[in-house]
Amino acid sequence: MPLMSPAQYLESLKDGREVWYRGQRIDDITTHPVMGKAARHAAIDYSVAEDPEHEALAVVEENGQRYSRYYKIPTSAEDLLKRSALIEICTSEGDTLVTLIKEIGTDAIFALLAVTAEMDDPIYHERVQAFYEHCRDNDFAVAVAQSDAKGDRVKRPSAQADPDMYLRVVERRDDGVVVRGMKLHTSISTNAHEVIVLPTRAMGESEGDWSIAFALPINTPGLKLLASPFGDGPDEPGEHPITSKHKMMETMTVFDDVFVPNDRIFLNGETAEAGTLALTFVEYHRFTAVSYKLPLVDALGGCAAVIADYNGIIGAGHVREKFVELISYAEILRALTEKAAERCIPKPNGQVAPDPLTVNIAKSHFAHGYHRAVQHVQEIAGGLLVTGPGDEDWESEEIRPFLTKYLVGRDGVSAEQRMKMMNFIRDLTSSDYGGYQEVLAIHAEGSLEAEKLQIFRAFNQGGGARRVVGLASRMAGL
Ligand SMILES: Cc1cc2nc3c(=O)[nH]c(=O)nc-3n(C[C@H](O)[C@H](O)[C@H](O)COP(=O)(O)OP(=O)(O)OC[C@H]3O[C@@H](n4cnc5c(N)ncnc54)[C@H](O)[C@@H]3O)c2cc1C
Repeated sequence: MPLMSPAQYLESLKDGREVWYRGQRIDDITTHPVMGKAARHAAIDYSVAEDPEHEALAVVEENGQRYSRYYKIPTSAEDLLKRSALIEICTSEGDTLVTLIKEIGTDAIFALLAVTAEMDDPIYHERVQAFYEHCRDNDFAVAVAQSDAKGDRVKRPSAQADPDMYLRVVERRDDGVVVRGMKLHTSISTNAHEVIVLPTRAMGESEGDWSIAFALPINTPGLKLLASPFGDGPDEPGEHPITSKHKMMETMTVFDDVFVPNDRIFLNGETAEAGTLALTFVEYHRFTAVSYKLPLVDALGGCAAVIADYNGIIGAGHVREKFVELISYAEILRALTEKAAERCIPKPNGQVAPDPLTVNIAKSHFAHGYHRAVQHVQEIAGGLLVTGPGDEDWESEEIRPFLTKYLVGRDGVSAEQRMKMMNFIRDLTSSDYGGYQEVLAIHAEGSLEAEKLQIFRAFNQGGGARRVVGLASRMAGL
């Protein structure tokens, strides 16, 4: 089957999926004012593949077959670097918005392929391979539901007052299993074709019912997508240059006693592999994360430079200091992202994964620096970010003359020019979407503490601890 066009992609989402929005069941998400916007945003992954400028990167030709590069199983640093470059292009086509549609699902597929390749029973690997080919050949978008509701964070899944706090198997049958639970924060699910479910943490020996991984079509009966309305605000294109066109959707994803057939089960009670799978997924997914952050951090630097110039403060000492910090912030992230690919580690089935130490340092660097970077841009821009005019004010014959006279910047910078940049910065940093980006920076693809834990673990496992302790001990004459 050939690659899907953006129009075919949108059409393919009309499949009876059960989506709820602000208490209402939505029959066709593509015509919904908010979810339709998210679907069209997601279609960027499909339009980039048709763009002559990007086609060579976005489409892979192998054995006479053409398929999306997102489905290229990485076997070298070069594959990872190309994947990262494609993610960066798709994200900047989305005006510095967040990850699009084919990235997250393929991260999970790569993790499933790598982990099941090492399992005693080859059946799981065969099933994942068949699922991979199904998604690749149909050019599908796949969501990943990993984060559970979790209840009391300190208690294990089996120790929760309600055992459904982590998604679990409630019935085992000859032809499959029945699962129950609610996964949270599931990105892009309203406009995906399939959802992969993974365990969110390591499991104890008695936690076989929670050690489950599988995939289902989004329109499977009993699968309910409760879409978050966060950021469904107004659509004025001038005031909201990003969010009037672009949107990500997240859902609370309910599995209300859903049947999963055997051929879609990728882990079923093997407790030892649950944690490995959870961690292998984030190795791939944090690489996607830092790749799609690159246009965002570059844009922050660009915003600071342009608005400083417009405000006439480009030569000020404190502004230069902030530039240096913003440039270093972005360039360190870029260097670490490349390094994570170059230092990639082999997996047993011949594929590679980004280096866990470097990729977690990259993600941690991004997440810890994001609020400070936003602070610099907001400081340089000034308070008009939240006190400026609306689109209707510019249209008013009576009001516009005051705006064009008083909102100018340095000599030669018109009020329209300055407010265009101001609106962009506002939408990016000071709107609902700005708040979304800040929470996203801290929590998405794993919280700050999760990354620290992985940095510590990867450093130890990679021999780093032995190296530095050995060096210091030798130098001290111990
Ligand atoms: C915009 C967005 C998109 C996302 N997309 C997806 C997606 O597509 N698929 C998906 O599966 N997930 C997704 N996530 C989920 C993301 O991975 C989680 O938000 C993240 O792992 C944190 O989990 P949480 O939100 O449940 O917060 P919590 O885990 O409740 O964390 C809150 C605080 O509690 C602390 N904490 C948690 N447990 C403990 C403990 N045992 N002891 C001490 N402290 C603890 C944490 O460190 C943190 O400070 C997304 C999140 C966001 C914000």
